[in-house]
Amino acid sequence: MRLHEVPTPCYVIDEAKLEDNLKLLNRVEKLTGAKILLAQKCFSGFCEYPLIAKYISGTTASGLYEAKLGYEEMGKENHVFSPAYRAQDMEEIAGICDHIVFNSGRQLETYLPVVKRVAEKTGRKVSVGLRINPECSTQEHGIYDPCAPGSRMGVRACDFDDTLAGMIDGIHFHTLCEQNADDLETTLLAVEEKFGRYLHQMKWLNMGGGHHITRADYDVERLVRLIRHMKETYDVEIYLEPGEAVALDAGYNVTTVLDIVENDGTTLILDTSAACHMPDVLEMPYRPPLKDSGQAGEKKYTYRLSCNTCLAGDVIGDYSFDHEIRIGDRLYFEDMAIYSMVKNNTFNGIPLPAIAVMDQNGDCRIVKQFGYEDFKNRLS
Ligand SMILES: *Cc1c(COP(=O)(O)O)cnc(C)c1O
Repeated sequence: MRLHEVPTPCYVIDEAKLEDNLKLLNRVEKLTGAKILLAQKCFSGFCEYPLIAKYISGTTASGLYEAKLGYEEMGKENHVFSPAYRAQDMEEIAGICDHIVFNSGRQLETYLPVVKRVAEKTGRKVSVGLRINPECSTQEHGIYDPCAPGSRMGVRACDFDDTLAGMIDGIHFHTLCEQNADDLETTLLAVEEKFGRYLHQMKWLNMGGGHHITRADYDVERLVRLIRHMKETYDVEIYLEPGEAVALDAGYNVTTVLDIVENDGTTLILDTSAACHMPDVLEMPYRPPLKDSGQAGEKKYTYRLSCNTCLAGDVIGDYSFDHEIRIGDRLYFEDMAIYSMVKNNTFNGIPLPAIAVMDQNGDCRIVKQFGYEDFKNRLS
């Protein structure tokens, strides 16, 4: 099956692009000795975990379910961070995770005995850490800024002390989102200034995600320099846990035009929805790239792209094309491997897109299809 033959709507994972990304991440690991983990909240297409495992060191999770997925399907280093763990999950998490990062002194104190007990019982080594808030905002997207005033993410320097430092093996920060190494450098200055004296006693520093390492203009050399600086200054193991950078530009959302509506402009109604299948388009918000299209007015035929949900604002954006679009035509949204499948929902009873994999030769195979039962079974 080729890309133009997959059923729609369908996410297609582009293995060639995925592997290109992984090769670059692997190069960073090799150059620096840092370990890179897949942040599964961004991409959990575990049919690709064997490929990902060939190039990077493991997985990180946001809680028990993702931690189990990483443990079962990747089986390499398995980390977890949650703003708050649930008591009933802690034992299982401690049994399958290598690093457990807590968000507050209280969570750390509450669950450290559980972690120690499980580690002793199973003879496993479990390393614990605390997430810090370096209070250094380097980006404008409020909902993605864990350093914004009043943030619940991480312990500030004013609430950190030697007692807490004495209970942990490592420090974790995550403050970036789609950012370059210059913002990492700014952040590291704040981390060093506020937490440097504790870093000397740590075994590791986890620098979170948001490093857009596989973007064309990313300054990899600067990243390498920064990692080496932190390793050498504090004698710590360095971890990075990017989500986006792993699967950036490594997928499509293939859709079919169902109808064309005229009302002061022309709207294409698609069988995929921003609200259901690419919610970041509305949340971020952003205009996703679309194959063979231009900005509104740039090419001869301009359309507003929208969806078959009842949400009036379920609009993806305005795009132009060289040729007129007809009912039944297919369109290919790009960069759709990240924060898409993991965020799917069946609002409005809209079908979940199938998931396909496109191999190095451009051959596509369907790895997952959904139906009515997937909608119904979640609702009672
Ligand atoms: C979201 C998140 C990541 C991954 O972020 P990307 O922007 O996808 O690279 C890593 N670590 C933590 C703690 C996160 O919350």
